[in-house]
Amino acid sequence: MRTAAERRELLKAVYEEARGCTRCPLHQTRTTVVFGAGNADADLMFIGEAPGANEDRMGLPFVGQAGKLLDKLLAEIGLDRKDVWICNVLKCRPPQNRDPHPNEIEACNDYLWRQIELIEPTVICTLGNFSTKLLRADTTGISRLHGREEVRIIGPRAVRLYPLYHPAAALYTPSMLEALRADFSRIPDLLELGPPEQPHAFEEPVPELEEDVPEPDEAPVNGELEPAAQLGLF
Ligand code: URA
Repeated sequence: MRTAAERRELLKAVYEEARGCTRCPLHQTRTTVVFGAGNADADLMFIGEAPGANEDRMGLPFVGQAGKLLDKLLAEIGLDRKDVWICNVLKCRPPQNRDPHPNEIEACNDYLWRQIELIEPTVICTLGNFSTKLLRADTTGISRLHGREEVRIIGPRAVRLYPLYHPAAALYTPSMLEALRADFSRIPDLLELGPPEQPHAFEEPVPELEEDVPEPDEAPVNGELEPAAQLGLF
C-alpha cells in the first residue's frame, strides 16, 4: 500500500510527462495541459469530458460554470476539492469545445489509467457520456445509467463506478439538476461501503531461468521545467 506522499510524487511524475505531450493533434491548439487536480490520496474521483476555454487558460479542471456547480454539489455532501481528485478523459481542449475524437481519446487514455492506478479510488463518478462510455467500455448512454452504481474492474482493481449527469448539462435543464443532486446525495453512502472485494491478487510468475535484467533507463533530468499551478493542488 502506497503512502499519500508516494502517490503524490508518482502522480507528479506522470504530470511532468503529460504537460509536454504531443501524442495527438490537440497539442497544437491547447494553451495548457489540464492534467487534473485535487487529492492524490482521494477515495473519490470525478472524470469529466475535456477541458473548456477557462480550463485551457488556467490549467485546472472544472473552473467555469459547470465547475462552480460541481463545487456546490460537493459542498452539499460535506466535501470540497481538497478531498477528491477531478480530471477529464482528454487532458487538452478540443477546439470550439467540440466532442473528443476517438483518436484523441485513444492517445490520452494512458494518462487516465495511470491516474486511476496511482490514486486507487474507491468510488469513480463518471460525469456525462464520454467518461461513462469509456470506463464501461460500452455504448449505453448516461440517461439510462446515472445514479446506478456498479462494481467494475478497472486496471488491476475493482472500483465502485457511479455514472452521473455532466454538471454542464444540468446547468440548463432543471430536471437533470434535480437528478444530479439526488444522485450526489448517495455518494457518502457509497464511500462508506469502502472498497469492493478485490480480484485475487495477481501472483508474480517465478521465472524458470535467471535472465539478465537490463538496467532501467535513467530518468531524464530536466532542470528547466517550470512549476505549474496544478502542482500546488495535489
Ligand atoms: N467540462 C468538462 O468535462 N471538464 C472540464 O474540465 C470543464 C468542463
